[in-house]
Amino acid sequence: MGDRDFRTIIKNSLDSIGKELDIEIDPKDIQKIHLQEVVRCLRRSYYDRIEPREIERRGFNELLSGLLRKLQYGSDPKEFSLDDIQIKAQADMIVDDSILLFRSANEELENPLANDLLYLNACLWIYDKLDGMIIYITGDRKETTFSLTRNKKMFEEVIRRVRVLNNLLKEQKAPILEPSVECSECQYYSKCYTKKTNTKQVTLAEMLGLGKKDLNE
Ligand code: SF4
Repeated sequence: MGDRDFRTIIKNSLDSIGKELDIEIDPKDIQKIHLQEVVRCLRRSYYDRIEPREIERRGFNELLSGLLRKLQYGSDPKEFSLDDIQIKAQADMIVDDSILLFRSANEELENPLANDLLYLNACLWIYDKLDGMIIYITGDRKETTFSLTRNKKMFEEVIRRVRVLNNLLKEQKAPILEPSVECSECQYYSKCYTKKTNTKQVTLAEMLGLGKKDLNE
């Protein structure tokens, strides 16, 4: 089997397992916003609903959290009402009244990632728990764990972002850019950073300031 075929098989398996494990979001039901949509770039979440593009998956390691959610000790999803909007959340695991999130990492981290903190903190409010942990696991099985006690201000920020996304989806307006490290791997990069250039073909005659007539003379 050629090297190229082998890569295609791995890519296809990653894509199909990834789709199975992805959090289900109904793009038309804009009154249901998933927590995952608001702890990352809102613009990306908006495009995922309005004009989705396939994401490029890089390895089995990034499927970790989805796999854990599907296993029997994964936690059940929960909803939180915000007037006429429902926020959907799903923690990876709940053990001894603590919420656990598992995330893959390329290297041991000094600090937890901001979007993971926002996600965990919101889960603590939605599941009504006081504390939780984020466990990062690298490809060579090194673990780094961070704990968090719930914080109201951080949850209010998530609520604000839920309302913003809901309004922009209603108005069919794309949210502003939120530049971050996420951009480099984002499937909408070209929509945010590369402008369509309006190039006009210039002929040699135009460059030399000659009209068609001059050339034919
Ligand atoms: S490229 Fe960056 S700003 Fe644009 S949608 Fe993706 S993550 Fe958001």
